[in-house]
Amino acid sequence: MFTWLKTRWHRTGLTAYISHPDCLQHNMGTGHPECPERLTAIRDQLMASQIFDGLQEIEAPEVTDQQLARVHPPSYVEYLEACAPHVGTYRIDPDTAMSPGTLKAARRAAGAVVHGVDLVCEGKVPNAFCAIRPPGHHAESGKAMGFCFYNNLAIGVAHALTEHKLERVAIVDFDVHHGNGTEEIFHDDPRVMMVSIFQHPFYPYCGDKPLGTNMRNVPLRAGSGGREVREVVENVWLPALHEFQPQMLFVSAGFDGHREDDMGSMGLVEADYEWITRHLLQIADLYCHGRLLSVLEGGYELSSLGRSVTAHIRVLSDG
Ligand SMILES: [Zn+2]
Repeated sequence: MFTWLKTRWHRTGLTAYISHPDCLQHNMGTGHPECPERLTAIRDQLMASQIFDGLQEIEAPEVTDQQLARVHPPSYVEYLEACAPHVGTYRIDPDTAMSPGTLKAARRAAGAVVHGVDLVCEGKVPNAFCAIRPPGHHAESGKAMGFCFYNNLAIGVAHALTEHKLERVAIVDFDVHHGNGTEEIFHDDPRVMMVSIFQHPFYPYCGDKPLGTNMRNVPLRAGSGGREVREVVENVWLPALHEFQPQMLFVSAGFDGHREDDMGSMGLVEADYEWITRHLLQIADLYCHGRLLSVLEGGYELSSLGRSVTAHIRVLSDG
């Protein structure tokens, strides 16, 4: 009966904040919402809120080819390398473009998640947030789309399963868009469970019919807000997570469901992200020895992005 209290005692050390200046060098052109200023806005707000001093700042290494290959076939990695421009931009799809700094940023982004897995699994930090771009959850094993090139979180999950021999890992995705790439990579993998919410019908126009029984996708209508999302967390996510008993929790943390973010049409606010994070931390404490790794996905209105990430990290670092 005191399991929750007991596990809480084990959490020591500072929450890691993993990022790299190379992540600012990916630039899809003036006016593109997935812009370098997103990371600056997050950092500024963390500093203004005096949260940053309580974090352990860590520079992300580059992902290795071997770590990438667990998710993306070499032919895809080579295709992206061939597309990378020396000057200007190269458009992969109408939304997604490569600049000369894109692959370096993408390698740091995926490397941040892999390093975060190592730090958390080795008990060097209680949990971690990866402040990275480009984001990853739309990237399929062989397809870049929706501002994403490598599926950062999936590469981290694969590393946790292979290198740290974890047998059950859960992914939570609260971005306003469906994490189609993560679903494509892990559907029907019994070691992985994914729970999510997303606005539907909306980009990428799938997810309403899950690809496997390990995918608990919950589409929500435009206009849904904190009340609807909290109901899903209580009625779908938490029962599924209690049943699965993951050994580590990964969060695809997208903040474009904020009511001030006009990328989507949902009505979440900082208090909702805080509430969700608190419940996820309780699951991590119950089953995962506190192991939780949160990875930035979307969030495009700079002010609400900074405030929402700050609310999220405040809970991660305070417990
Ligand atoms: Zn999104």
